[in-house]
Amino acid sequence: MPEFTPQPSCADPEDKNRLSIAAARQRIADLITPLNGWQRTAIRDSLDRILAADIISPINVPSHNNSAMDGFAVRFSDLEKESTQLKQVGIAFAGQPYSGDVKPGECIRIMTGAVLPPDCDTIVMQEQVESQGENITIHGQHPKGNHARYAGEDIKKGEVVLAKGRRIIPADLGLLASLGIAEVSVMRRIRVAFFSTGDELRSIGDTLESGQIYDSNRYTLYGMLIRLGVDVIDMGVIPDQKEPLRQTLIEASQQADVIITSGGVSVGDADYVKEMLVELGHVDFWKIAMRPGRPLAYGQIDDTLFFGLPGNPVSVMVTFYQFVMPALRQLIGEANIDSMTMQVTCSDDIRKRPGRFEYQRGILYIDEHGQTKVKTTGGQGSGILHSMSYANCFILLDEACDGLPANSVVTVQPFAGLI
Ligand code: AMP
Ligand code: MG
Repeated sequence: MPEFTPQPSCADPEDKNRLSIAAARQRIADLITPLNGWQRTAIRDSLDRILAADIISPINVPSHNNSAMDGFAVRFSDLEKESTQLKQVGIAFAGQPYSGDVKPGECIRIMTGAVLPPDCDTIVMQEQVESQGENITIHGQHPKGNHARYAGEDIKKGEVVLAKGRRIIPADLGLLASLGIAEVSVMRRIRVAFFSTGDELRSIGDTLESGQIYDSNRYTLYGMLIRLGVDVIDMGVIPDQKEPLRQTLIEASQQADVIITSGGVSVGDADYVKEMLVELGHVDFWKIAMRPGRPLAYGQIDDTLFFGLPGNPVSVMVTFYQFVMPALRQLIGEANIDSMTMQVTCSDDIRKRPGRFEYQRGILYIDEHGQTKVKTTGGQGSGILHSMSYANCFILLDEACDGLPANSVVTVQPFAGLI
């Protein structure tokens, strides 16, 4: 009987030839320690940056009890069941409080945002009031505290309003301004160097000879990196030759926190990149059980993280979105790095063979009944770059799935503007 050596099973997470997506993400995360550099910045410049410290409210918001309506501020204990007669003794505007007393049987006219006098606890809308000079008649019943906004109701002094690790959005700028905060501490920006590898690649402006193509990966990478808010170092196109690759990798590792390359990580032309990486750092080559984007290299050259993405243009974007983006977010200290997913009906048939997890390109749209649905972009080849331009989401299909009929419910991951 011939001797039989068992091979690692497909499900074996340690099988480097077929790493699951979750295992790859975990291994990437395990190597990353968030940076600790930070800087102070004016709040307008903090947009899209990551907070380096909690923001503690220095004040109550609102700062005083105030009115949510134009109407009359009254003492609840004065109100009768059917109707109540009161005497108007003053008026309060936003920014111009009424400073006198409001005694039993009295009330004041009050505008939205005006300070509620300490004697009053309830506001009656002006539509439910008849006024003749200072004589006020209030009709109907009104719950205690109606239309009153209380000091600290929105935010209490000393409360954490925005937590460390948050990516600042426009709403946060308004919130910070409402608290009178002019400057915040944000994480330092990281530097990401990137280059394309391939003898067939030409730059825009060159004439293409037979077999040559324009380098597109550096452009999509540039766009995605800028959207993430990192500083970029574009190192150009490097031919499939040892010496230029070695020099570029050394130079990149001296300048950047992260290096991203595209191409040359599959078998064949892969060898030079692989050889150089083995020589210069610790880099693993993985075959991930996914489509597109199977070959991926990950490791370090000195302290610099290295990602070797596949060459296919769509694979570059998929592997960037699924692996590089969460890693960069972790590195800059961003707390919430999970991408949102949702379940929607797919109006097209989906073609897929079982075996690998697939990220198909989808278009979320609203149908004639107002329902959010998804359709596919059609052909799913990993060289079809225009599919990424039309798509606004990935359709996530698990390994076992062997295609789906139209009107199946699928999980989608919207790009949220990054791609
Ligand atoms: P590779 O991973 O180097 O074998 O490349 C896989 C495929 O992607 C080949 O068809 C390459 O020509 C193509 N490709 C590699 N790099 C780029 C690039 N920067 N821009 C456009 N296509 C590329
Ligand atoms: Mg190549």
